Amino acid sequence: MENVINYMEIWVKEYMEILLAKTDGCKCDKCKRDIFTLSLNNLKPYYVATPLGKIMAKIESTKQQVETDIIVQVTTAINKVSNNPNHDR
Ligand SMILES: [Zn+2]
Repeated sequence: MENVINYMEIWVKEYMEILLAKTDGCKCDKCKRDIFTLSLNNLKPYYVATPLGKIMAKIESTKQQVETDIIVQVTTAINKVSNNPNHDR
């Protein structure tokens, strides 16, 4: 299906960068991919059709509602991956 976006992916990516910057965990592409998939699997997807006007406001309010969940899941995933990276140190 065209023009359907899982907004959760965008938010997870956003918070992953913010939260990773605050830790000394590995920031390579492999670890980022692991953190990303791990976080997404623990969060509910949020699919929307191409956002326009009215929908955008709803997306913002949903983001605020799920923000805490995202931070918790991404933080957990960062800790998990940095304690056990999927590659040699
Ligand atoms: Zn790494």
